[in-house]
Amino acid sequence: MAEHILIHHKLDASKANGPGNRAVIWVQGCTLNCPGCFNPKTHDKNEGTQTTVNELFNWLLSLGNSIEGVTISGGEPLQQLKPVLSLLQRIKAETILTTFMFSGYTKKEIETFPQWLALSQALDMLLCGRYDVTHKLESCIVSSSNQEVLFLTNAYTQFEVDNIPHNEIIILPNGAIVASGVGGINLE
Ligand code: SF4
Repeated sequence: MAEHILIHHKLDASKANGPGNRAVIWVQGCTLNCPGCFNPKTHDKNEGTQTTVNELFNWLLSLGNSIEGVTISGGEPLQQLKPVLSLLQRIKAETILTTFMFSGYTKKEIETFPQWLALSQALDMLLCGRYDVTHKLESCIVSSSNQEVLFLTNAYTQFEVDNIPHNEIIILPNGAIVASGVGGINLE
């Protein structure tokens, strides 16, 4: 049976959501309610678009070698852990794409999830911890200083993290303007 994922948006190519040129998937739904959250439109589970692991995987394949990896952001990916993990495992098993995920859960919380071992084996890098507006950072993909970046393989180092652009503006083929990076995603 098809595994479904509720998503907010996806982008074929971004340089401000992880190292290099990456496809990005923003999942829809988050109950963590970080004060000052920069992406509140991603919270409501009654919004967004239903898709499947298979559809997302085939979309990633269609991008060919134009990307070096995929970033899963949100919303809160771990509140859709089963399909998100299935997608990540398939990417790891069948492609050479690198995998990076944002989560509002702390490392300590994530390590209690029964799927932590499988998740850690399917990710190259994880940025985790609640967004804390009182510790806001202005010039880094890490949006508040309490958050942690976990390097789960040797694909990336702090050097690549430090060199990710803070924000970007993309004009899509249909003329829509997308602003993404720290501060989430906004469509105009
Ligand atoms: S910052 Fe992330 S984890 Fe926190 S409420 Fe917003 S979407 Fe959820």
